[in-house]
Amino acid sequence: MRVAPVMCSLIAMAGMAVSFSAQAQSPKAKAALKDASGKDVGTVQLIQTPHGVLLKMALKGVAPGEHAFHVHAVGKCEAPFTSAGGHFNPASKKHGMEAAEGAHAGDMPNLFIPANGELRIDVANHMISLIKGQPNSVFDADGSAIIIHAGPDDYKTDPTGNAGDRIACGVITE
Ligand code: ZN
Repeated sequence: MRVAPVMCSLIAMAGMAVSFSAQAQSPKAKAALKDASGKDVGTVQLIQTPHGVLLKMALKGVAPGEHAFHVHAVGKCEAPFTSAGGHFNPASKKHGMEAAEGAHAGDMPNLFIPANGELRIDVANHMISLIKGQPNSVFDADGSAIIIHAGPDDYKTDPTGNAGDRIACGVITE
C-alpha cells in the first residue's frame, strides 16, 4: 500500500516536466491597443499553441456593441490606422469565413462589447503563427497589427468585411 503514493507523485512530476518544456518552446507576443486619440483601450496576449495562436484579450473603454477585429498586414498604428494595411492574408484568400475561397489568416469572429465597455475574451486563431520563418507568421518583414473596427464584420464582403472605421490598433510585439 505504500507504493501507490510514490507512483502518484512520480506521475505528477512527469506531468509538470511536460508542461514546463512545452512552455519553454511556446513563443509569446503582445499588443497594446490604443484608440485614435492615443488612449489605452486594452491589451492582447498572444500565445503559440500546437493548434494555432490563442489571443487573450482584455478590453476597456470600447464603445458597447458589435465590433469586427482582425490581424492586419502591417505592424504600424498611426491614426486613423490605415497604416496597418489590409487584413493579414499571406495565403491570398478572400475575406471572411463565409467565403468559398477561404478566409484571410487575420479574420476572426466579432467582439460583443457590453454596456460598461469592458470585455475579457480568449479567441483561437488557427491560421496565424508566432514562429518566425513560417509562411503565416505575424512576424514577417513588415510586422502585423491587431485592429478593432467601429462596426461588425459581415464575414463575407471582400476584402474588408464592411466593418467600418478602425477605432483601435496595436502592433504585435514579442
Ligand atoms: Zn479579412
